Amino acid sequence: MIETLGEAYDAGWRIHARCAQGKLKGMKSIPECLERDELDLKTLMWTRGEMFPLERLESRLKCPCCWSRRVAVWFERTANVRRARMVARP
Ligand SMILES: [Zn+2]
Repeated sequence: MIETLGEAYDAGWRIHARCAQGKLKGMKSIPECLERDELDLKTLMWTRGEMFPLERLESRLKCPCCWSRRVAVWFERTANVRRARMVARP
């Protein structure tokens, strides 16, 4: 089971996020925000720490385009990649 940023990095996963705001803001209809990006796993480890749980990632993200906090995250599991790190985890 891969549950933390560090484990996902070791397994060679890639992380993508997209804005999930949709077309409704309160009762008003707004143009749909289509912002999406690949997130840099290593930068996330710099800022959140390698033990940060993947399931909490969505709640910490905010769309840089419309400022919505409704963000969907998904993982790209690249097969058979094992990254070797310089220092073993304690
Ligand atoms: Zn957005």
